[in-house]
Amino acid sequence: MLQVEEAQARVMDEVAAGAVESVPLDESLGRVLRESVTATHDLPAADNSAMDGYAVRAEDIASAPVTLPVIADIPAGHPTKLRLEPGSAMRIMTGAFVPDGADTVVQVELTDAGLERVTIAQALPRGASIRRRAEDMRAGDVVLRGGVAIGPAEIAILASAGRSRVQVGRRPTVAILSTGDELIEVGETPSPGQIVNTNGPLLAALVREVGAIARPLGIVRDTREATIAAFEAAIESDFVISSGGVSVGAYDFVKEALEALGAETKFWRVAMKPGKPVVLSRLRDRVVFGLPGNPVSSFVSFHLFVAPALRKAMGQEARLYAPTVRARLTAAVRGAAERRVYARVQVTARDGELFATPLTSQSSGALTSMLTANGLAVVREGEHADAGADVPVILLAVPTLAP
Ligand code: AMP
Ligand code: MG
Repeated sequence: MLQVEEAQARVMDEVAAGAVESVPLDESLGRVLRESVTATHDLPAADNSAMDGYAVRAEDIASAPVTLPVIADIPAGHPTKLRLEPGSAMRIMTGAFVPDGADTVVQVELTDAGLERVTIAQALPRGASIRRRAEDMRAGDVVLRGGVAIGPAEIAILASAGRSRVQVGRRPTVAILSTGDELIEVGETPSPGQIVNTNGPLLAALVREVGAIARPLGIVRDTREATIAAFEAAIESDFVISSGGVSVGAYDFVKEALEALGAETKFWRVAMKPGKPVVLSRLRDRVVFGLPGNPVSSFVSFHLFVAPALRKAMGQEARLYAPTVRARLTAAVRGAAERRVYARVQVTARDGELFATPLTSQSSGALTSMLTANGLAVVREGEHADAGADVPVILLAVPTLAP
């Protein structure tokens, strides 16, 4: 059986960065930057005050306490043309440009806050409380490179570089097919033997969370013809995800239907639990993921294979995979002979240490076992992990703080 890393490498081999589009800065949060961005001006544009206080010459306050005449007032945004003459001070506000002649700022807390004359209580080293021109960025510096996900900090940098529009990776469209004769749509009442299609909404949500566009195409009945027709229609989208129908059951048509359409199967089974039957297939110029029907299996295989692929398609270059941390198990996790186990755990932080508590149900069919899971503890093939063991955990969300 194929190892998870090898399967992930095969997925990455099939995916390339997609097209680029321009969006307003306001709409770029969560998108992937696809151009490098250069600072258009020095920031700060000039030496400026880091404090509300008084601009002085360090040598004039060397023998503090001293009293100096206040010869001007400099609010932020109103630079003065006056020169600070020896033996004087100017009142200055945070962010205001430091006047010529001054080399030091004394914060107001070290003074009597005088308006005409100010008494300064202590000497300060030259340069105190001055932010130097260009110490943040220098005109012409590359301040952001393509391939990074845009978060609030990147948006601030883009704004500073004057970018009201940004080049980002286009969001790929992802068709979602839910195979199964037993399935009914959300809101319908199940007759005996029927269950609600929960994978459709689950996968659509996971796709949107990554930043791609979900196109849920509904339920596909378990016949060869219906499955072929559904995939034929689905490949209008950039990617296709199906759930169910990939095992060895008599009504599992996904792999067969894809092959009938001329698709090339890149893998079919991966040595993992949950989720062994996972199909990766190339159908013309599209990548198709056939995920298992069990909800938890499709959840786990989405995180391991689909999410990184979608990030790469948007042009992301680093951090394609969720981060792995080490955490201490609070209860044992049973391994499996030839498969790597991904156990749903709740990761909590306590006293600087991370703990991973396995969800009580590890059944791949139990929807509730995904509810508070913010991590997947990894137990290698043929191994077991006892309570207290230090194990790798793939973090799917920020750890919660222990009570
Ligand atoms: P399959 O891989 O098609 O054999 O399905 C495995 C299990 O997952 C069965 O118990 C199915 O009923 C269940 N299942 C398949 N598709 C879905 C779905 N869309 N929503 C919820 N459960 C599903
Ligand atoms: Mg099925």
